[in-house]
Amino acid sequence: MKIVLVAAGVAALLGACSSSQSPATASAPKAVLGTFGVDLANRDEAVKPGDDFFDYANGKWLASFQMPADKARFGAFDQLAEQSETDVRAIVDELLANPPAAGSTPAKVADLYAGWMDEAAIESRGIEPLQPYLQQINAVRDRAGLLKLMGSPEFAAPFGVEIDADPQDPTRYLVWIGQEGLGMPNRDYYLREGAAFDKYRQAYQTYVARVFELLGDGAPEQSAAQVIGLEKKIAQVHWAPEALRVPDKAIKTMSLAEFKRFAPAVDWDVVIGSMGLPELARVVAYGDTALRDGGKLVSSEPLEAWKKYLAFHIASGNATNLTKAFDDAQFEFFSKTLRGVEVQRERWKRGVALVNSLIGEGVGEIYVAKHFPPENKAKMDALVVNLIAALESRLKQLSWMDEPTRAEALKKLASFEPRIGYPEKWRDYSAMQIQQGRHFENVVNARRFEWNRQVARLNEPVDRGEWGMNPQTVNAYYSPLMNQITFPAAILQPPFFDPNADAAVNYGGIGGVIGHEIGHGFDDQGRAFDDKGVTRNWWTPETDEKFRAATDRLASQYDQYCPVPEGCINGRLTMGENIGDLGGLEMAYTAYQLSLNGQPAPVLDGITGDQRFFLAWAQVWRGTAREDFVRQQVVTDPHSPMQFRANGVVRNIDAWYSAFDVQSGDKLYLPPDQRVRIW
Ligand SMILES: [Zn+2]
Repeated sequence: MKIVLVAAGVAALLGACSSSQSPATASAPKAVLGTFGVDLANRDEAVKPGDDFFDYANGKWLASFQMPADKARFGAFDQLAEQSETDVRAIVDELLANPPAAGSTPAKVADLYAGWMDEAAIESRGIEPLQPYLQQINAVRDRAGLLKLMGSPEFAAPFGVEIDADPQDPTRYLVWIGQEGLGMPNRDYYLREGAAFDKYRQAYQTYVARVFELLGDGAPEQSAAQVIGLEKKIAQVHWAPEALRVPDKAIKTMSLAEFKRFAPAVDWDVVIGSMGLPELARVVAYGDTALRDGGKLVSSEPLEAWKKYLAFHIASGNATNLTKAFDDAQFEFFSKTLRGVEVQRERWKRGVALVNSLIGEGVGEIYVAKHFPPENKAKMDALVVNLIAALESRLKQLSWMDEPTRAEALKKLASFEPRIGYPEKWRDYSAMQIQQGRHFENVVNARRFEWNRQVARLNEPVDRGEWGMNPQTVNAYYSPLMNQITFPAAILQPPFFDPNADAAVNYGGIGGVIGHEIGHGFDDQGRAFDDKGVTRNWWTPETDEKFRAATDRLASQYDQYCPVPEGCINGRLTMGENIGDLGGLEMAYTAYQLSLNGQPAPVLDGITGDQRFFLAWAQVWRGTAREDFVRQQVVTDPHSPMQFRANGVVRNIDAWYSAFDVQSGDKLYLPPDQRVRIW
C-alpha cells in the first residue's frame, strides 16, 4: 500500500549517447546532435515557428518516426531511457556471468533478475504462490478480520500508508494516510461519461472477470461486477487529483485520537497493528474525507464483496509475476486498452524495470561507476549555481511581489539543496531476502523490505541523504518537504546536457530542466512550503492574490488544449508542471544572458544564440504518443503532453517572439498583456 505524495516532479530525456568516451583522448570535442547540439536537419522549415514551434523544431522527425510496437510514448527522454535500460542489462548480464558472493547486493540483483527470466519455473507453479493469500481471504469471518488484511502491505484497501516527513516539522517522520484502492488509473475512469471511457469500463469488466476465471471462481462475471461496483463507490469518495494539489486543504495533520473521531467507521487500531507500526501520536490525513468515507464503505458494503475485492487485487497486483495467462490478461487491459501498446516488451526489458524498481540502488551503484564521468558533476554544479543566481536576480525585480513576500522567497531560494548524479550513501539491502527459483516470493519480500525500511525509520530523524529516484533513471525531481532538487546521473546526457554543445543549447536543455525543478519550489503547491519545508503561509494577502490571478490565466490557457477526443488538458492538474516549465525556461534564459557577460552571442550555422536556446528546449520535448496513452495522461498525470511543454511555454516568453519574429496573426501569438509572467 503506497500513496503518491505531494513531492511530485518530472522532467525527462534522449540520446544518441556516446557512453564512455574519454575527454582526454577525444581530439575535437563535438556535440552529439548537429554541429552545436541541435538536430537542425529534423526541423520542418515549411512550418512557421509562430504557428507551431514544436512542429517547426521537430517536424521532420515527427513525420518519419515510427512508434515501436511495444511503446505507448516515445520521445527524447525515452530514447535515453532505452540507453539506460541497455546499460543496466549489461550490468546484470555481467553479474550473471561472474556470480558475486552469495548474499551480497549484486548477487540479489542477479538472482532477482534470473528468477524473473525463468518463465518455465514461474509457469510450473501456476497459482500456487497466491494460495497462502487466498486462504487468508477465505478465512475472513468479520470486519475485524477484513481490516487486519487491509492493514497488511500485501492486500488492497481504500486507503494507503507511507512514512514520510512531517509537514509541520520535516526533520521527523510521520505516517501519511491517503486514498487508494482503485484498479483503473483513477476516479475519472469510473465516473467520466463518453464513448472512450465506456470502452475502458467494458474492457475492465472483461479483465476482472478473466482474473476471476484464472483463479477458478465459480461465477467470474458476477464477481467482477461486484468488485467494480465497490470500486465505483470508492471512486465517488476519492478526491480529484487537482484537489490533492492544494496543500492547505489536502494535508491535515492531526492526533491519532482526532483522526479516529474523524473517521470512526474503521477500527484504526486493528489496521495500525497489522501494519506493524508502533504506537502513533499523530498522523497526516491526505485527502481526509476520502479516508472517512472509504472507511464507511468498509463497514457498510457486504463482507463477501470485499473478499472478492481482495482476491482480485492480490491476483491483479501480482499478475505480471504469475503465469503467462495472468500476464497476458494484465497486458491486454493495462497496456493495450488503456495505453494503446501493440505488443508486450521483450522480457529482459521488463526484468530491468523490475530490478530498477525493487533493488534500484543496488544496480545504481554499479551504473554510476561505469557511466557517470565525475567532470559532468562539476559542470552541472556550475549550471545549477547560475540558475539559482538567475532566479535570485529575477526575484529581486518582480513587480507583482511585495517586500515581505520577496524576503521569504529569497530565503527559500537560498536554502535550496541541489543533488547531482547519485546519493552519497547507498541503500543497505542486507535485510532483503532473495532466493533462486522463488520469483513470486522474491517480489513480495522486496516490497516487504521497503515497507519495513519505512517503519524502522519512524522514530529516527529524517535522512536528508536519501534519494527518491535511481541514478539510472532519466528524470529529475523537487521535494517540497526537503527543499531539494535532484538530478540523477542518467539525465545528464544529450540532448539535455552535452559538455561539448554550445552554451545556448545547454541552457535551453538541462538549464530549462534545472529551472523547472527550482520552479517547483514556487509553483502552486511548492509555494505552500517554506525554506525549511514546513507547510506555512508566507505570502501576504495582496501578493497571494496576484499569484492566483496569474496562475488562473495560465490554467485557462492550458484548459484550451485538447490533444485527443475526450482528452483536454486540465489546467489545474498540470498547474505545477506548467509553472515549472514557464518559470524554468525564463530562469534559464536569464542565466544564459548572464553567462554572456555582456558580449553578443555568436551566430552558428546562421542560427542566433536565442534561437538555439529555444530550439534546444523544443528538442528536449521531441516525441509522440498513442491516443489512449495521451487520454490517460491528461486525466491522471500532472505533466502536459510533450508538444504543449514546448508551445504552451514559449508563447508566454517575450524573447521567443523576437528570436523568431513571431507576429500578430501567427497561431501561437499572444498579445503582450495576455502573456503570463510569474517567475
Ligand atoms: Zn516537474
